[in-house]
Amino acid sequence: MLDYTKGEYKERSGLKVNPAKTCQPVGAMYAALGIHRCLPHSHGSQGCCSYHRMHLTRHYRDPIVASTSSFTEGACVFGGKSNLKNGLLNVFNIYNPDVVAINTTCLSETIGDDIGEIVRSTNVPEGKTVIYANTPSYQGSHVTGFSNMCKAMVTHLAENTEEKKSDTVTIFPGYVEPSDMMEMKRMADLMGIKYTMYPDTSKVVATPNTGKYEMYPEGGAKIEDIKESGNSMASIALGKFSSEAAAYELEKKCEVEPFIMKEPIGIKATDEFVMKMLELNGGTMSKDLEYERGQLVDIMVDVHNHYHGKKVAIFGDPDIITAMTEFVIDLGMIPTLVLTGTPGKAFEKEIQKMFDEAGLADSKVMASEDLFSFHQLIKENPVDLIIGNTYGKHIARAEDIPLVRVGWPILDRIGHGYFPIVGYKGALRIIEKISNALLDHYDRTCSDEDFELVQ
Ligand code: SF4
Repeated sequence: MLDYTKGEYKERSGLKVNPAKTCQPVGAMYAALGIHRCLPHSHGSQGCCSYHRMHLTRHYRDPIVASTSSFTEGACVFGGKSNLKNGLLNVFNIYNPDVVAINTTCLSETIGDDIGEIVRSTNVPEGKTVIYANTPSYQGSHVTGFSNMCKAMVTHLAENTEEKKSDTVTIFPGYVEPSDMMEMKRMADLMGIKYTMYPDTSKVVATPNTGKYEMYPEGGAKIEDIKESGNSMASIALGKFSSEAAAYELEKKCEVEPFIMKEPIGIKATDEFVMKMLELNGGTMSKDLEYERGQLVDIMVDVHNHYHGKKVAIFGDPDIITAMTEFVIDLGMIPTLVLTGTPGKAFEKEIQKMFDEAGLADSKVMASEDLFSFHQLIKENPVDLIIGNTYGKHIARAEDIPLVRVGWPILDRIGHGYFPIVGYKGALRIIEKISNALLDHYDRTCSDEDFELVQ
């Protein structure tokens, strides 16, 4: 497996091998699915749309709907205006969504189609809404596309209509799983905090089989709630890369104060999320949450010998792996390598600060890098565990290192859409996964004399 990957890491400037990211529109498509009765629309050739739908379907094992402007060569030369105008009318006639959220591909971006002008010159049916975001795939990654679509929701929908702000908090959950969004809402409910969350893909991409196909499932943020978010008392943006832009847009447009925080993955980041919610809302800590936190601490102590001092290499999307790095340090593990394909000096700075504070002088952080480099660096400095998405499985097999699947996409296991990794409950699950992965590997490779019944 991966026999041609040699152990000596060399910087490359013009070649990417096994990227640790994908392109903007798929992130925008995922964000758009978090609006109730919304049909994502891809303005470009249909190949992008089918690829992005397929990837989301493989990850969620649920149908993912989206339409496309289906560019042909003519549109590439003369622009995609008539494709989009006709496409929108067809989409409303045939599929009857309440909202269409348009993203662009590298093709329409290179041509320079003016999406705003095209939408304004289209007779959108009464009571229907069209929003749009520019998502050039040659900038950033799928996380940038997610962020751009979240920002567009604010730009096109949020309104500041009341003199006095309400007691509702707007939560931008970031590029996380529907199970994570559900867990954040459960935590807010337990604390009695009023909130609006968008996008919200829970009950959209992890739906039950009822025997009847619902093109627009019951989940997703309601348009009226997104509008009303302009009147909220504050916003909490979870994950700088995926949520910050929307929160700043809400501040600019509707004077809603933003608080940019880490994804609540691990004990420290969850504590910060809970404390911020309580501080904003003046509520009291829920007894149930306190109990869950105590259970987490108990397990951390009970099984710390499974993971303490173990070396781990982490890759994936910046917001997830920033919080994950903090958590593994709290567990006493040693993150020797943290890598994302998404560009961003802010990411490198934040992780480096964590390394410095933990005295991890030999650990490495890299943004805008690929899995070929990740593999080479692991060969140079072997680790006990890899944390990342499905694309890490080849390296895990080649080097015989256990892999804990976290992030997007996970194409070869289930659970991510149904069980959270955020909050105290999520942290418990991460520990279970890490501990099991290390012990399964140990049981498989240890000598007979060391094969223990009780661990
Ligand atoms: S890189 Fe461009 S052509 Fe390829 S899928 Fe993304 S938007 Fe489409």
